[in-house]
Amino acid sequence: MKQLEEKILSEGTVLPGDILKVGSFLNQNIDSQLLTQMGDEIARLFEGQGITKILTIEASGIAIAAAAGMAMGVPVLFAKKHKTSNVDGGTYSTVVHSFTHNEDYNVVVSTDYLVADDVVLIIDDFLANGAALRGLIDLCDQAGSTVAGVAIAIEKCFTGAGDALRAQGVRLESLAAIESMSEDGIVFRS
Ligand code: 5GP
Repeated sequence: MKQLEEKILSEGTVLPGDILKVGSFLNQNIDSQLLTQMGDEIARLFEGQGITKILTIEASGIAIAAAAGMAMGVPVLFAKKHKTSNVDGGTYSTVVHSFTHNEDYNVVVSTDYLVADDVVLIIDDFLANGAALRGLIDLCDQAGSTVAGVAIAIEKCFTGAGDALRAQGVRLESLAAIESMSEDGIVFRS
């Protein structure tokens, strides 16, 4: 998506540890016009797939998931992260290793909100090693719901995680796909 790529080039900062900082328009300060365009693009990509629910993970997936949910007219569910292993009853839970914080979280959703009839579109802001996505797919498997696909705002292709998921048959679309990045520049997949 051209508008997102241009924004990444003009405002994104590459930090040590292969982290792309996008706090000026996506992760802290949100460019609402760009967010609306991203939601519309996700709705276009997954039109006609019978999606009944969007699933994301707190916190930074929520804005883009909400934009897509409004464009698609479907509810948005976000999985919560807990540091402790104290998981209440009535939940599906899985353990996810956080790329940015380098620690494990329990990621939970209520069994009331994710059900076997759901056809789910999973959304997140970034795809790095794929741990967050695999955790969200695991929650859908526990609920017996169908994963129709995955939409990612920014895929870091150089990890190989996105292509590994595609090879497993997951329909994964990213709005901006980064082939390589360093302090010298960012190259998008063409
Ligand atoms: P993964 O689980 O795929 O390794 O990492 C995905 C999660 O880590 C996303 O939910 C995102 O919040 C965070 N993340 C991964 N890479 C980056 C990055 O380069 N920049 C930012 N801001 N967050 C990232």
